[in-house]
Amino acid sequence: MEYKKIILKRGKEDSLKRFHPWVFSGAIDRGDDTIEEGDLVSVYSHDGKLIGNGHFQVGSISVRILAFGNNEINESFFSERLQAALELRQSIGLLRNDNTSFRLVHGEGDFLPGLVIDIYGNTAVVQAHSPGMHFARKSIAQALVNLPSKLVENVYYKSETTLPYKAQLDAQNDYIIGGYNTNIAIENGLKFHVDWLKGQKTGFFVDQRENRSLLEKYSCGRNVLNMFCYTGGFSFYAMRGRANLVHSVDSSSKAIQLTNDNVELNFPGDSRHKAFAEDAFKFLTDMKKDEYDLIILDPPAFAKHKSALKNALIGYRKINAKAFEKIKSGGILFTFSCSQAVNKEQFRLAVFSAAAQSGRKVRILHQLTQPADHPINIYHPEGEYLKGLVLYVE
Ligand code: SAH
Repeated sequence: MEYKKIILKRGKEDSLKRFHPWVFSGAIDRGDDTIEEGDLVSVYSHDGKLIGNGHFQVGSISVRILAFGNNEINESFFSERLQAALELRQSIGLLRNDNTSFRLVHGEGDFLPGLVIDIYGNTAVVQAHSPGMHFARKSIAQALVNLPSKLVENVYYKSETTLPYKAQLDAQNDYIIGGYNTNIAIENGLKFHVDWLKGQKTGFFVDQRENRSLLEKYSCGRNVLNMFCYTGGFSFYAMRGRANLVHSVDSSSKAIQLTNDNVELNFPGDSRHKAFAEDAFKFLTDMKKDEYDLIILDPPAFAKHKSALKNALIGYRKINAKAFEKIKSGGILFTFSCSQAVNKEQFRLAVFSAAAQSGRKVRILHQLTQPADHPINIYHPEGEYLKGLVLYVE
């Protein structure tokens, strides 16, 4: 299949030959005049060899390659890719009666740049991050309901905030196929409501599943503070892990309501849990020393872009310094950064500075990352974003 043509400058095909899926605008020599935002294009090397087909976009990343070689990008292409993504999740044991939520498609990590799909029970929540994926949404939705065992019956499209603003696509959040049935999903045997209609991202942060499981193991008898709790994921794992008490904090009162609902769903009437709608920094400043011996810091991405890096690192240092100052001796700190623009070393250095400022003895117990249903394409290291440290503080 031939799409509109893009020809690269001499030598600019090298990274594509190593299967890195992005073509930067500076690498392009020329292209058909009729190419528009979101079009499927065929990318050629300077000497006329076809490299692959992908979605065109206005911006510094001009093309995201979907298929190296000459594949047609249609519904059966999406069916094959989704099937392969599902097989991976099945083979690593993520589809179980006690686990009905997982990420089915993680963009480049599943060879589908610009696309994210999370599964909650029999509903798929689809997010397009590129105009091309927006235009392909109906084929993607059809491919989803065609997956085996009727895995997906409802497809909710949620791209209002993820598409490039300038493309003016007027994307509306809505069901493409099916409609609302239940919004209760299960993660490792724990139930939670997913608010894909109004919640952040696709409605739940599936990327912390394994890290929550680890926290559960360390919760027994501890006083737990879950900062930036959102839907309370870490809180209900801590409760199952027999924590002594669990306090959840988020500045959004909607998040606090979700947390209370989720705790109630799993542990009705359990008085060990309390939730506070407060600013994290204020809460950490006002709280007494030694009140908690297990603290989770999982803030929103402080740096959405490289330009915000310096301030983001200061932010991570400050918030961690507060935790080091207040945590009880023998306490454990789970601290995270989900900013893609901050790398592992930078994050570790920010936490190191915070530890040094407190003058306490701190040891690293675990270095955490994103789970296996958020795979990183080895040729696309940019896909790594979640970083975490579990620290023992004396
Ligand atoms: N830990 C969560 C995900 C956190 S998302 C989980 O496991 O699902 C980040 C959360 O931080 C959001 O819910 C947001 O409302 C909250 N937040 C952002 N700024 C904040 C602040 N200054 N103080 C407290 N919470 C904040």
